[in-house]
Amino acid sequence: MSGKEFLRSVDQVFDNAARVLKLPAYLANQIKSPNATYKVNFGVRIQNKINTFTGFRCVHSDHLEPVKGGIRYALNADQDEVEALAALMTYKCALVDIPFGGSKGALIIDPGIYSQQDIERITRRFAQELIKRDLINPSQNVPAPDMGTGEKEMAWIADEYKRLHPTDINASACVTGKPINKQGIRGRTEATGRGVQFAIKEFFRHEKDKKRANVSGNIEGKKIIVQGLGNVGFHAAKFLSEEDGALITAVVERDGAVLNDKGINIEKLKSHIARRGGVKGFKGFVSNGSKVIERNCDILIPAAMEGVINKNNAKNISAKVIVEAANGPITYEADQALRTHKVIIPDLYANAGGVTVSYFEWVKNLARIRFGRLHKREEENKLISLINTIENLTGMEVKASKKKIILKGADEIDLVRSGLDDTMRQAYVEMSYKFHASNKIKDFRTSAMAIALQKVAKSYDTIGI
Ligand code: NAD
Repeated sequence: MSGKEFLRSVDQVFDNAARVLKLPAYLANQIKSPNATYKVNFGVRIQNKINTFTGFRCVHSDHLEPVKGGIRYALNADQDEVEALAALMTYKCALVDIPFGGSKGALIIDPGIYSQQDIERITRRFAQELIKRDLINPSQNVPAPDMGTGEKEMAWIADEYKRLHPTDINASACVTGKPINKQGIRGRTEATGRGVQFAIKEFFRHEKDKKRANVSGNIEGKKIIVQGLGNVGFHAAKFLSEEDGALITAVVERDGAVLNDKGINIEKLKSHIARRGGVKGFKGFVSNGSKVIERNCDILIPAAMEGVINKNNAKNISAKVIVEAANGPITYEADQALRTHKVIIPDLYANAGGVTVSYFEWVKNLARIRFGRLHKREEENKLISLINTIENLTGMEVKASKKKIILKGADEIDLVRSGLDDTMRQAYVEMSYKFHASNKIKDFRTSAMAIALQKVAKSYDTIGI
């Protein structure tokens, strides 16, 4: 799918929700249009030649600041795609009550063909260009990882910001997704995949929604197909199989797919990919990967890129539930064909885990203290005295293994997961409630977008446009 088609898809979803809400045209236009998109060409010397790179940073809506959104490294990135992704960030943050506006960035590059030293120099140069224009700034614009970038790139960006603003006490909050030893937060790397797991768990708590999808019971034993075993797909597949007993019956990657009806060992497959650069050679390998997403399963999780379910293959998709871990994996036309007989858990909601934990990281950086540091031991001491009291009153002893679980105070990772779980559960309840409450709303995508628009519109209305 081209960037133009992606942008059109996002705008069409917006228009549907605006129509349902009867939003005045002047307000709808103001919200829909991106505020500004900055395009930069810059040179980096690589092996004695100057290579010119093109990058973008779009600020979609700054009704709340800072604005937030990842930076992706991809060869097919373009301005329309960045604007579509920035718009999704505005709506996503509003839906899950994260107090940020929407932004997104991209660099046109194939990161796979450069050495790590070259990627570092390119990243630092790109960061300088954005920092100069306050398009990276802890109070105005805070990037995060996306496709093709990770904690290393974020650490270089933070370091570059610190060099250019040596006296800014909040410098580390200029970017999220940093490594732990560079003021990152525990649970950020896994956050988007963890959020996908929490979204699916919450779906299984809603009988009406399960009935609509024609599924019963819980996650255990459910057949799941995952497309893209990168950051998001890997963590979602790992947690759903290892913690909830789901069977990952297929993983689709760039070079083919792996099939196993009894469930794939995700850790083993990930190490194979790290060693061999793809899924080829793993037990159950087939080469026609794109056909595999059409196979029979309960849940399909597209976690690679946009437009993979489109008018050419929509009618062949057999999954009962599609969980959009990637941004925009279903085109508007495909969505129209699928939405009445499948449950689609939309990107706006399903992959909001990343920005949610990014928000926790930003708060941690501004507060300059690890979550849990103040009250963990106090909480444990209270629990010890409670257990002692119970044991004294009953004359019975609580088992040592049980005691260990009960007594443990919350660490940063426990608090991050708890905050993420709460965010995903609350947003699902709102999305599902709105869907069931209005006969004008035909799918979760429209209910999620309508909730987001109501919040953004209210914010504009309060401050005046
Ligand atoms: P990533 O680069 O870590 O992983 C992407 C994976 O998809 C890679 O393993 C790649 O080989 C695979 N892939 C690429 N093209 C493919 C194709 N045609 N078929 C099958 N597999 C293919 O990226 P990521 O961070 O996991 O992001 C994936 C998606 O999730 C993107 O749409 C991104 O915008 C979205 N997302 C990511 C985050 C985050 O925190 N990283 C947050 C929200 C949304």
